[in-house]
Amino acid sequence: MQFPREVIVGEGVIERVAEVAHRLGFTDSALIITGSKTFDAAGKTVKTILEGDGLRVETMLVESATLKDVEAVEKKIEYSNPQVVFGVGGGTKIDVAKLSSARQKIPFISVPTTASHDGIASPLSSVKGLEKPFSVMAHAPIAIIADTEIIMQTPYRLMASGCGDVISKITAVKDWKLAHEENGEYYGEYAASLALMSAKLVMQNAKLIGHGNEEGLRVLLEALISCGVAMSIAGSSRPCSGSEHLFSHALDIVKPNSAMHGEQCGVGAIMMAYLHGANWKRIRETLEVLEAPTSAYELGLTKEDVIKALFMAPSVRPERYTILSKLNLSINECEKIAKLTGVI
Ligand SMILES: [Zn+2]
Repeated sequence: MQFPREVIVGEGVIERVAEVAHRLGFTDSALIITGSKTFDAAGKTVKTILEGDGLRVETMLVESATLKDVEAVEKKIEYSNPQVVFGVGGGTKIDVAKLSSARQKIPFISVPTTASHDGIASPLSSVKGLEKPFSVMAHAPIAIIADTEIIMQTPYRLMASGCGDVISKITAVKDWKLAHEENGEYYGEYAASLALMSAKLVMQNAKLIGHGNEEGLRVLLEALISCGVAMSIAGSSRPCSGSEHLFSHALDIVKPNSAMHGEQCGVGAIMMAYLHGANWKRIRETLEVLEAPTSAYELGLTKEDVIKALFMAPSVRPERYTILSKLNLSINECEKIAKLTGVI
């Protein structure tokens, strides 16, 4: 198991980036992976503070998360030989920094500028151009520095998406348990409980988070980080990714870039909870409180997109046993479920 050694969440904590680097022994050199917007929002500050502390700092801008981007960063790492890589940004920057540093066997520090998904703290990386349309194992960040003041600058929609990702652990854990019972797959009670607790905390605090204030953001960030740790404990994405994630991955193929990952997972969780015989209405109501999408229309999708993705979902990752593998739904059944749960 790999865990972050330092997790700092709060207002203005970006100022502590040099102190954290120092404690971890990074006093010589660093490489910052960031985007042009996130450089202005946070990357520049990280660079200035580290340089002020005497580190040699290089910055590399990436605008997408493809295998090409990862390879380009790997070349940069080989060439400039930094002690540590900082991923400063939202999903793509962190994914690229995480995977390239893992491949080059140097530590990685996560400095998220959004709270839209659990990749900010997980050991997995989602990169386009690999054979698989889902995340692959990379390594856990050695430290996470989540400055709420910076994350608060991003639109609330991103926070709502992060909530969808966390709430979807309810069905992910049910799928994991099912795979254990029916297929004898390894199931870790501790990792499962941690993911589930994160989902429950976000659900209980939905009203608070829905206000879009710092206190709610803190709850969400702690939940996202706990989900990352749950995956580190499990050694896979199992506690955090089940049939609802397969539905989201299928949507990424059926209709790419239509909605955000967490938004899609939240809607997926409504339907998968129904299939599991769980309280799907409560998931839908909570997403509504959070102003997260609960329907095809709100995801910017047609009825057909949803039915197609639901039907296709189990084949996206056949080795991942979920309720969808068990039920082997027909197209008509997919349509019925999406209708019954109000998704279409
Ligand atoms: Zn996710």
